[in-house]
Amino acid sequence: MINRRTLIRGGLVAGLASQRILAGNAPSPPGLRRIATEEGFNIPEVARATARILPELVSREPGEAAVFGVDRPRSGDEAPPPWLHQLSDIGAGRIADMDGAGIAMQVLLLSSPGVQMFEAGEARELSQLANDRLADAIRKYPDRFAGLAAIPPQDPAFAARELERAVSKLGLNGAIINSHTGGHYLDEAPYLPILEAAAALEAPIYIHPRAPSPQMVGPYLDYQMVGAIWGYAVEVSAHALRLIFSGVFDRLPKLRIVIGHMGEGIPFFLDRIDTHYAAGAGRGRGSKPLSRPPSEIFRDHFTITTSGMNWGPALRLSLETLGPERVMFAADYPFENARAAVSRIDALGLEPDTLAKLYHRNAERVFRLTARGAGQAK
Ligand code: MN
Repeated sequence: MINRRTLIRGGLVAGLASQRILAGNAPSPPGLRRIATEEGFNIPEVARATARILPELVSREPGEAAVFGVDRPRSGDEAPPPWLHQLSDIGAGRIADMDGAGIAMQVLLLSSPGVQMFEAGEARELSQLANDRLADAIRKYPDRFAGLAAIPPQDPAFAARELERAVSKLGLNGAIINSHTGGHYLDEAPYLPILEAAAALEAPIYIHPRAPSPQMVGPYLDYQMVGAIWGYAVEVSAHALRLIFSGVFDRLPKLRIVIGHMGEGIPFFLDRIDTHYAAGAGRGRGSKPLSRPPSEIFRDHFTITTSGMNWGPALRLSLETLGPERVMFAADYPFENARAAVSRIDALGLEPDTLAKLYHRNAERVFRLTARGAGQAK
């Protein structure tokens, strides 16, 4: 049974009054261009397809069933969340919100879990459609939007071709993959063509959260721990470490990964990871010894974003452990408060050079944004 909240999460309820906050942050100081790098959108076709398969998720994807609320009874008369309408607006309304928060540009990505729960044929069609729509929005507002391609790991050869099309023909800036696909991870052999394509194009892959995989989600279900409260970080950090320990970065030196939410906890753990790798952990399935300690691979191949983590102590630790070149600003619009993200980070008293890297220079480098819209400071 699909309840009202489920429909809402799927983005089906149209025409709702948006609850945008009118009072805004001050515009960026001259020369400081705030680029938010993990900003969600959805298209009606993906929302409808998602709503259609929700009843299957309770057995097939129990974590995602919990995220969408289909695993438990609901009253059916809950107020729609304020972000529903915002998710499907990739035009004037979104730009007004960006202006209110003092954000010059959003790097857009198809909202999690994107196309990854569909059978391959539908995932192929929807990914192309989403990428075409995204490219249309960027063409219309080239100084306000950039974006990452949705690609379906269910068909790795197609996903690699679609990434190529998205970057070379549509002008998109990388790929978004919402962590596991049916319980499988990108270090597994069938997905190598995707990683090879990303490396060849020098296009980063943003590994965005979704609920923990079916193999891992059990203990997260009892207290609704599957989402941003903890499960997302466990899922993505495990995915990132699998990639590191697989040795793929020695094989593909140009492969670059972005992860959000202040690195999903990894910066805090780097020393412990190195210590236990040196003691013999982090090996298996025929993986070759790594050329460097895992922390060095993380620093060289990963960039993290602040999405939803605007906390001074965590940001300072990340800047200290990774360096100021490896942390980018993200607001996680529309699920988190973009105005609060900007005002909290502005209030930390960071050095101007660090702030410039955090807010725009790193994003310009990682997503190659300088060719378009640069210098159009808002
Ligand atoms: Mn997000």
